[in-house]
Amino acid sequence: MEQLMRNFFLFLAKNKSLTNLAKRYGLRFGAGRFVAGATLESSITAIKRLNEKGMPVTIDHLGEFVDNEREAAEMTQHCIDAIKAISKEKLDSQLSLKMTSMGLDISDELVLSNMRKIMDAATKHNVFITIDMEDYSRCEKTLEIFKMLKSEYDNISTVIQAYLYRSLEDVQTLDEYHPNLRLVKGAYKEPQTVAYPEKSDVDNNFKKLIETHLLNGNYTAIATHDDEIIQYTKDLVEKHKIPYDQFEFQMLYGIRVERQDQLMQEGYKMRIYVPYGNDWYGYFMRRLAERPANVVFVLKGVFGK
Ligand code: FAD
Repeated sequence: MEQLMRNFFLFLAKNKSLTNLAKRYGLRFGAGRFVAGATLESSITAIKRLNEKGMPVTIDHLGEFVDNEREAAEMTQHCIDAIKAISKEKLDSQLSLKMTSMGLDISDELVLSNMRKIMDAATKHNVFITIDMEDYSRCEKTLEIFKMLKSEYDNISTVIQAYLYRSLEDVQTLDEYHPNLRLVKGAYKEPQTVAYPEKSDVDNNFKKLIETHLLNGNYTAIATHDDEIIQYTKDLVEKHKIPYDQFEFQMLYGIRVERQDQLMQEGYKMRIYVPYGNDWYGYFMRRLAERPANVVFVLKGVFGK
């Protein structure tokens, strides 16, 4: 049943008409629990509250499926404005983005030109950028562009998904760039031909990725809500005397808030991924797919209980 619900929400996440409809109606159905606000301005209070608690954030202007140059230019400008706002408001914040919003599906020239505009602004304002990893069909291209940008700019990282068979090799190949990488389980619906179908295999691969990247001496963001993976990281760090400034934990805004507080109080760096914007639909559906129990929050949102 749970697998059925998961597939259903991942199917809904890809629906373009529903994505467009949702944009027109603002944050609905309990999405406000996972999305900080419809605009950056309306999200700044939530971001400052996290910063004041001692938690750095990475903000993400929600948006995907951009298929024309005009929209890609708009999304690029949104990122540049967000970088300026981080600097102006003195937020302890990085920026995460999806390259399909910058024209990844349109052409290499377009996405590279938009990314360089963003990276120039980020360098000027001293803001760190992470390229989120999207579905498998974009993985190779995302890594290619990341490598190109990483040889031009230092303040950039990307994401490796533990559910993909290829990921351990990617972490090893990327090592020559000494990259800061965010490691995650992976949020998209992928076929068995490219991704481990069993959770236990994904978890084992996640552990291998964490160990490899940390022991290679690279900065590692362990982005998970899973206690087993968190405990594995703590033990590994203890065993190999890895300094606390070589890694951080990351969690999503609104998910396992008590655990976030606890890790911070234990002395670990805990960064919160804060999404905002009116294109919240796909992101929200993927969170529901991860944990169908959250549907209860949606129903409360719909029926106002
Ligand atoms: P799971 O096995 O899904 O969950 C472990 C436990 O955490 C659950 O048993 C439950 O107790 C708790 N939990 C998990 N999800 C929820 C929830 N929604 N509500 C309440 N409790 C929950 N994926 C990508 O594909 N690309 C990316 O670029 C990317 N960036 C990410 C950035 C950050 C900071 C984080 C935290 C995740 C990111 N993800 C990304 C999503 C990731 O791939 C997983 O889909 C997501 O983190 C769920 O996996 P998990 O590791 O938390 O473990």
